Amino acid sequence: MPTAAFTTLGCKVNQYETQKILESFEAQGFEIVPFDAPADVYVINTCSVTQSAEAKSRQTIRRAARQNPNAIVVMTGCYAQFTLRRGERLDEAHLVVPNPDKLRAVEYLLEHYPHFKTALEQARRQGGTPLRRRSRAVLKIQDGCNVYCSFCSIPYTRPVMRSIPYQEVLDEARAMVEDGYREIVLTGVLIGDYGAETGSGGPDLAELCALLSEIDGLERIRISSIEPTLISERLIDLIAENSKMCPQLHIPLQSGDSRILRAMNRPYDQAFYLDLIRRLRERIPDFGVSTDIMVGFPGEDEQAFQHTCFVVEQVEFCRAHLFRYSPRPGTPAETMSDHVPDSVKSERIQQLQRVCKAAAQRYASRFLGRVERVLVESRSKLSGLMMGTSDHYLQVEFAGSPNLAGELVKVRITDLTADGVTGELVSL
Ligand code: SF4
Repeated sequence: MPTAAFTTLGCKVNQYETQKILESFEAQGFEIVPFDAPADVYVINTCSVTQSAEAKSRQTIRRAARQNPNAIVVMTGCYAQFTLRRGERLDEAHLVVPNPDKLRAVEYLLEHYPHFKTALEQARRQGGTPLRRRSRAVLKIQDGCNVYCSFCSIPYTRPVMRSIPYQEVLDEARAMVEDGYREIVLTGVLIGDYGAETGSGGPDLAELCALLSEIDGLERIRISSIEPTLISERLIDLIAENSKMCPQLHIPLQSGDSRILRAMNRPYDQAFYLDLIRRLRERIPDFGVSTDIMVGFPGEDEQAFQHTCFVVEQVEFCRAHLFRYSPRPGTPAETMSDHVPDSVKSERIQQLQRVCKAAAQRYASRFLGRVERVLVESRSKLSGLMMGTSDHYLQVEFAGSPNLAGELVKVRITDLTADGVTGELVSL
């Protein structure tokens, strides 16, 4: 049976789409293997949000080609689309699927490389069936953004706000649960505005989550990324009261400095952000917050950067994704003056990494000795321990059987590690 491996760069929308592509390969009979295993086909869903995302996309494609020089490497996503538009070629990518057609990647592959069709037919005749354990599924409920942050090109490429009708979301969630998934991660570009463009009558994000939580067999619901100004009291109440809702949100900070936030056209300031976290933790103690932070936005001086470090120390993010600002063509920030030199950006990224790591450890230490519910995902190649994610979004490792993959278990947290915590299995 031919094997296929997948990886994603960039946002949660890309992750969702990779999952859809993966399912279409699975439906054709491909066996899905981890990305670092030898595979017959590698599919890379690329990103072009920053220059470093583009560089990582290229590196990943080259890594796949090195892993199995006989494999077919398929590239799609935003960076793939850029290369098509610019007429560039990457020698290691055998097939470039245009971004709008990415969900048809398997059709492109079978058309260009018909020997896979023959191999799949043979495998079907011999009765081979792929086996895959399920843990968390990503479900896209919204697309489009109208915020126009001055560094971001998304509103120019996806300006139309569109929420997936709630009946469709519920149907897809039920199908995912029937497929064996225990956790659903809701995703979208501006997910906090779910339902807003449809006018009154339909559910908003909080109501949609409440409806989803009624699905039998669905045990955890996580919201992927939500803008700070779009977190409603109703959503906070729901998370506080409904045990299926994870007590964690990914709330992009981008900068801890109010002047830079204004220049970014982000509709909040430092005080608003800190007050939001205070309200969340007053209502839900030890609430987990992960974030995105952009370093080196034009005009970011040392004082502004220190304000970002200050917010990180105050909030104690459980995870922080740090991005180095790079100009995106056609955005207002591209033409701003006072660009920060690359060497300064690099120093600040390193400094902020240290601040974030210490703050994440302080947050994780709140859980020492406590029992956390963990969705088990896989075995760590480094430690040989089983790995999973806790309700509060801690990465937890513990000794256990590989059969636990896909299960929700209880783990007592005993130690801190560089990226998370370790613990002992308490019960299934
Ligand atoms: S909220 Fe800002 S950063 Fe996020 S997609 Fe919209 S414009 Fe881009």
